[in-house]
Order: sequence, then structure tokens, then C-alpha cells
Amino acid sequence: MTQYSMLSPAQKYTRAFCTEEEISMADSIRKFVDNEVMPRRHDLEGGWHRDEKLALETLHELYSKLVKLGATKSNLPAEYGGLGLSPVVRQMVNEELSRADIGLATMVGKIHWIVSIMAAAKRDDLLKEFSPRIVGEDAWTACVGITEPAGGANLEDPALQFRTIKTIARLEGDDYVIKGHKIWPGPAGPADRFQSKYLKGHLGYWTVATTDPSKGEEGAGVFYIPPDAKGLSFSSPYEKMGFVWSDENVDVYLDDVRIPKRYRIDTEPGEGAKIIRGYIVGLGRLAGSARLVGLSQAVLEIVLDYTKHREIAGLPARQRSLFAALIGEMFRYIEVARQYYLAVTWQVSHPEIYGPPWSEQMIAKFSSARSFAADAAKFVTNTGMELMGSYGYSYEFHVEKYMRDYKIVQMWLGGAQRDRLDIAQGLYGPFKWGGFEDWARKEKLLP
Ligand SMILES: Cc1cc2nc3c(=O)[nH]c(=O)nc-3n(C[C@H](O)[C@H](O)[C@H](O)COP(=O)(O)OP(=O)(O)OC[C@H]3O[C@@H](n4cnc5c(N)ncnc54)[C@H](O)[C@@H]3O)c2cc1C
Repeated sequence: MTQYSMLSPAQKYTRAFCTEEEISMADSIRKFVDNEVMPRRHDLEGGWHRDEKLALETLHELYSKLVKLGATKSNLPAEYGGLGLSPVVRQMVNEELSRADIGLATMVGKIHWIVSIMAAAKRDDLLKEFSPRIVGEDAWTACVGITEPAGGANLEDPALQFRTIKTIARLEGDDYVIKGHKIWPGPAGPADRFQSKYLKGHLGYWTVATTDPSKGEEGAGVFYIPPDAKGLSFSSPYEKMGFVWSDENVDVYLDDVRIPKRYRIDTEPGEGAKIIRGYIVGLGRLAGSARLVGLSQAVLEIVLDYTKHREIAGLPARQRSLFAALIGEMFRYIEVARQYYLAVTWQVSHPEIYGPPWSEQMIAKFSSARSFAADAAKFVTNTGMELMGSYGYSYEFHVEKYMRDYKIVQMWLGGAQRDRLDIAQGLYGPFKWGGFEDWARKEKLLP
């Protein structure tokens, strides 16, 4: 694969938002990706015939190498043995890994996600409890459970104030007893599914629940459920378009799962709502924007290489003005999406100016970043495929895989429509959809 200087870490990451040292870290991840992951992209899906053994072995092996490289512990504060790096490094890890495989990047991102949830709640005790497994040589995976059968995006709708959550955590003495049903969280499933030569195990489930839906934001919280908790069970993995093994999604059933009280991550009234909005949904969307940019860059690189060698009536295709204009258009989308997510990430480190991650303004910006990067990925994968003709559609050149994969990163955590509504909320909130009050009263969600 040709290296394009405008697409190299040294050129694409703006020094107003990051340091030389951070760029050189991104460069090391990129080298790892070029040497180790790019050549095995097909194996991550088990090849054309979807060989599950090959897929899982490749996924676990590459993931364990990334753990050893320090990718998963990048945002864990140094006092717990992590690298304590800035939010921008989390984004660069996401972008660079997604050039090869956005599913593998998402698996790494799960550890960043759970660390950010516990750090946001200042849960020193829990960070101490989990850090030996996060910083050790062994590879572990983790899961965050939000979505429920009655709706995913409604949980992310600020107007509903978490009143639609049906997973209930009941306080009984020193324990919480949790009953509910989550759908789609991943990677999830029986513990032995996550034990292999390369993967030590599953850390467990950081689960959104409420003590009482009628309490709205005051009731919502995040509860840690160990992977071997009694009462925890799973369906078999869903069949879906992409992310087949990198994010095995299942139904998670919580049948009176008992956990010690200290496994409720948020500790103050209203803090759970802030963590869910800011750190689970908000920063989750921001991480998605970096992943979508990495994915789009990979497609642009494939198209640049292919159209250099493919001739149309005696000229390399990319010398034809229509091709050049569309390639320029692809770059333009990717570059703007990247510089915007970098700017928003920089703002996350300056809450004194821009507000905390759960503020409506920051949520609007996370949503702008994710939805714009998703539009970029949609344009780039679609146009890239058209410029390559049938070869773009073929398995060999990977574009079909990138096209399948970008779609869910646009749709999860509330999706493209919810992103737009959250931007409106930041601009002129409170934004409530028509008929909301009547409906919410009828459903007994509001008094
Ligand atoms: C591969 C994969 C991985 C996933 N990983 C996880 C995970 O780790 N954890 C987890 O909890 N979930 C996960 N999900 C689930 C995902 O986040 C949800 O499916 C998603 O948030 C949308 O929820 P929904 O499917 O219930 O759609 P719905 O809530 O039914 O929404 C459908 C559409 O309506 C739009 N919409 C919603 N509300 C409004 C409104 N008020 N007005 C206008 N439009 C609206 C949405 O944007 C969406 O486009 C995953 C899903 C997949 C496929």
C-alpha cells in the first residue's frame, strides 16, 4: 500500500490539538496496523467462507498484541499503572486501528469506555480493583449495556429523562438486585466464549439501569455486573451485516442479579444521568467519529492505489478529471471530519470553557462530529466503490467490508436522527417532539 504524506500522522494531526509525542504514538500504532493488521483483514472475518475458528483466533491474537502495546490502557490514569494519556490519544488509537478494522478498534475502545465511566465517577476503589487486569499482560474484554427491547434511542433522548428504562435495580440491604433485559450489547455471552489462547476473559457488564423510572434522572445509574453473576444469562449471538465476531451482540437477561452496593458506579444523586449522557453516549459518539474517519481514510487509500493502475482509454483513471474531482471530494470530507473531531476532543479537555461532557452543548458537538464523520464514511465508501467499478464490489479489495462496517457506527448510540435532534437540543433546547407531554402522561412517564 502506498504511503500518502497528507494522510500520515505527521501531516494529518494538527499540532494545535496534540503534541509531537502524541503524534509519534499514533505513528507507532499505524506501523503496527500496516505490518500486522492490514495483511490479516480478511482473516478477521474468517475469510470468504466465514471460518469462525480463523476469525476468533485472528481477532484474539491481534487484540492481545494491542493490549501488550498499551493501546487499551492509554486513558487509565498513571497512578493505576495506565498510560494516563489525553483524550486525543484515545481518538488517535481509534482512527489508526479503524484504518484496518473498525471492529478491532471498537473492542479496544470498550476498555477506554469502562475506564472513562469509572474515572468520571471518581471511583478510585473500582479503578484499583480493575487496573491489575487492564494493565497486565493478559487480554480482557468488557461490555457496556444500554439498549433495551422497547428502544435504544429513547434512552438517549434527554426529553424522556431515562423514564423509559425497564431494567430496575432494587436496593436490598447492602446489595442491589437487578432485573431486566438488555439487547444488542457486545461483546457479550457466556464467560468461556471469551477465553482462548490469547484472551484471558471477560471483565463484565457496565449496565445502565434505574432504581425507579418515575424518578427520571435521579433514578438512573450505571451498575457493574460481574461476568459470572448468578441470574445473568444470554441468547446466542445475533446474525448481522458486520462486526460478526469483533462485537458479538446478544440478549442479556438479568434475573434478580445480586451485586454489592459498591458496584453502583455513580454515587451522588443525578450523577448517573451525567455519566450516561456525557461519558457513555457522548464520548461514545466522539470515539465513533474518529473510527469513521480512520475507516474512510483506508477506503481513500485503496481508491488512490487502484485508480493509479487502472487505465481508462490510455490514462490512469485518477488522471481523468471526474475521478480527480471525486477523489478530492473524498479527501475534503475526511479532512474536515478529522479536524472537527480533533477540535471537539480538545474542548473535552477544557470543560472550564466549553462545559462538561454531559452539557447539552458538548453533546451537540459530539453528535455533530459523529454524524458528519458518518456522512463522510457514507460518501467515501459509496463513491470509492463506484470509482473502482466491480472491483470495488469484490471481496478482494475490502471496500465492501468497510461499507458494511461504517453503517452501524453511524446508527448505534442513538443514530443519525438522534444526533440531529441532540444538535437542536444544544442550540435551542429543551427540544421536545410534538405531543410529547400528552404521550408521556398517558404512558405514566410524567406525573
Ligand atoms: C453491532 C452493534 C453493536 C452494538 N453495541 C451496543 C452496545 O455495546 N451496547 C448497547 O447497549 N447497545 C448496542 N447496540 C445497539 C444500538 O446502540 C441501538 O440499536 C441504537 O442505539 C438504536 O436503538 P434501536 O435499535 O432501539 O432503534 P430505535 O430506538 O427504534 O430508533 C430507530 C431510529 O429512530 C430514530 N429516532 C429515535 N428517536 C427518535 C425521535 N425522538 N425522533 C426521530 N427519530 C428518532 C433513531 O435515530 C433511529 O434511526 C449495538 C448495535 C449493533 C448493531
